[in-house]
Amino acid sequence: MNEYKLLLLPGDGIGPEVLDATMRVVGWYGQKGLPYKTEEALLGGAAIDATGRPDPDETFVKAIAADAVLMGSVGGPKWDGLPFAQRAERGLLRVRKDMGVYANLRPALCFDALKDASTLKPEIVSGLDILIVRELMGGVYFGEPKETITLPDGQKRAVDTGVYTTSEIERVCRVAFEMARLRGNKVHSAEKSNVMVTGVLWKEVITALHKRDYADVELHHILADNAAMQLVRNPKQFDVLVTDNLFGDVLSDEAAQLTGSIGMLPSASLGDKKENGLPSALYEPIHGSAPDIAGQGLANPIASILSFAMCLRYSFGLKDEASRLEKAVDAVLAEGYRTGDIMQPGMTKVGTTAMTDAILKALDKAA
Ligand code: NAD
Repeated sequence: MNEYKLLLLPGDGIGPEVLDATMRVVGWYGQKGLPYKTEEALLGGAAIDATGRPDPDETFVKAIAADAVLMGSVGGPKWDGLPFAQRAERGLLRVRKDMGVYANLRPALCFDALKDASTLKPEIVSGLDILIVRELMGGVYFGEPKETITLPDGQKRAVDTGVYTTSEIERVCRVAFEMARLRGNKVHSAEKSNVMVTGVLWKEVITALHKRDYADVELHHILADNAAMQLVRNPKQFDVLVTDNLFGDVLSDEAAQLTGSIGMLPSASLGDKKENGLPSALYEPIHGSAPDIAGQGLANPIASILSFAMCLRYSFGLKDEASRLEKAVDAVLAEGYRTGDIMQPGMTKVGTTAMTDAILKALDKAA
């Protein structure tokens, strides 16, 4: 069997720390027979420091050639003062765009051991299992014009443009329906069709797609502001929630908090299948570079490790292995291991390395 080509983009802040932890887990699977080889490339602030640009072309050539990209996180105060187009985060937007990964899958799963760590009542979040599917390559983050101009009277005018085409909406909604069929068979589609023409088109396209190809899946339309409210009022009503780039960014962070900590949440960004049958795929924790704790060995590696579980499931088709890893994380939490972000009274506080050690031990036990 050919080796899977993994490209590692550690990035900045806690990115390299959580990716190192994840590579120990990848190594565990390697010892059990997963064939892979790795390459590393620069992105974000690390790339600015080394090359003067947040998005060196070489990184994108490697990303497109890889079978899967595992990313840490990018950005930090060191690069915040740079002009907008040169900021570390621009590298992240470009890697998503160049790889053609248009569907961002963000599960919000509340591990039973953590139901008390949420700011919501345990009965609201206990057993929570939502999949947010966020459109990732269109909408207001990419639309043109995107500019700041100075008006004749001296004040400035900034413009972002929200734009979607039929095919951009249809392909991400198709992913949502396919995912729903593997889960609870229910999709909520969130937009603002009451005030935005992109929302009107979104609703029309998903309704037509549903009627044509996915009538067996339950479809609900919900305004994005109401979705934000329902996520904290009664989150368990959702199974798959599909939405555009901007609303998806906000709603998935809100869902993150339901589960206790942003340090727990993985993501997969998928595009079309390539010639070898594998999808374009980028896996990353949803958290940022956490400059406040970077370099101290305190970061929770679970979001990054669970992103690799998504890689096992969606890139390599190894569903049982993905479940094994998720169960190992569950077991470690049930044993009481906690990084600072999810610490609770009476539990054992650990750092990045000890949490990873515990997960590897749980994997050994389950093997
Ligand atoms: P952040 O996610 O980095 O941090 C928010 C808070 O959560 C911080 O208190 C941090 O310590 C904590 N936190 C985050 N991940 C954690 C983990 N794994 N373990 C323990 N605690 C964790 O968000 P921010 O502070 O708004 O952004 C910091 C930088 O990261 C900015 O430059 C931002 O642009 C960038 N960012 C990058 C990405 C990405 O690379 N995908 C995503 C979001 C933000």
